[in-house]
Amino acid sequence: MSWKDINTHNRILRDAEAGQYGVIAAIAYNVEQIFGLVKAAKNVRSPLIIQFFPWAIEVYDGLLVRTAADAAKTAGVPISIHLDHAQSEDIIKRAAELPFDSIMVDMSHYDKEINLKKTAELVEYCNQRHKATEAEPGRIEGGEDGVMDTAGLEACMTTPEEIEEFVATGVDSLAPAFGNVHGEYGPSGPRLDFGRFSQIRILADNRVRLVLHGTNGFAPDLMKRCVAAGVTKINVNRLVLDDYYEHLNANVGKMGHTQLIEEGIEKVTQLTMKWMEICGSSGKA
Ligand SMILES: [Zn+2]
Repeated sequence: MSWKDINTHNRILRDAEAGQYGVIAAIAYNVEQIFGLVKAAKNVRSPLIIQFFPWAIEVYDGLLVRTAADAAKTAGVPISIHLDHAQSEDIIKRAAELPFDSIMVDMSHYDKEINLKKTAELVEYCNQRHKATEAEPGRIEGGEDGVMDTAGLEACMTTPEEIEEFVATGVDSLAPAFGNVHGEYGPSGPRLDFGRFSQIRILADNRVRLVLHGTNGFAPDLMKRCVAAGVTKINVNRLVLDDYYEHLNANVGKMGHTQLIEEGIEKVTQLTMKWMEICGSSGKA
């Protein structure tokens, strides 16, 4: 058996594909959020992916990542640690020394030829250190708090030929661009091209897992439609953190710090449990 078969991240997503459910991959910015996410996974017996932007490494060095890895190890449900949108060789090499199970090698800010070349090289670098990898064929528009904004660059929908090219780089997961957007959607809301997505899924032919980026403001029905279409890793940011921020806004300075923290953790837990239920991963761990 190869390391790829026992890698926690790969195992979580393979099980999700076989069981036709989606796994929440939540961005965490602090320990309260990590703790709240893990509690949700334990409460509803769900697999979970905790992910970080490179920002977390730049600010906390390895502290936040090691904390999440420690929480994952002792959770009693499958939890993997992933680095989202690693956009430089430098940050990928730093991350490869940290307890990540998976790293997104995101070279989508380069033109396609350079993107493919760099992706293949860095996937090999990560694989040598037993890290699973994810890449972004095409380019998903926009930015989120903690990751480089590519809004100045033109968004490109993923094309069928790119699937073959990116599978050839050796990545384990692909995050296609099919109308999804990082950050906030405009007033008309998300308009996803499911026809394109199903074509991508057929071409991927189970050789890679498919990842959904850009879910801020998604309604439960749209999320369920994405899971039914074959998405297994569901990147979420504000979808599970909104109640936490609302709680902070309402209560900073009005309650003791310990109470603020404890209730904040609970906000993350409750909202995450709701989305685990919607994505069908509850009870699957
Ligand atoms: Zn993304």
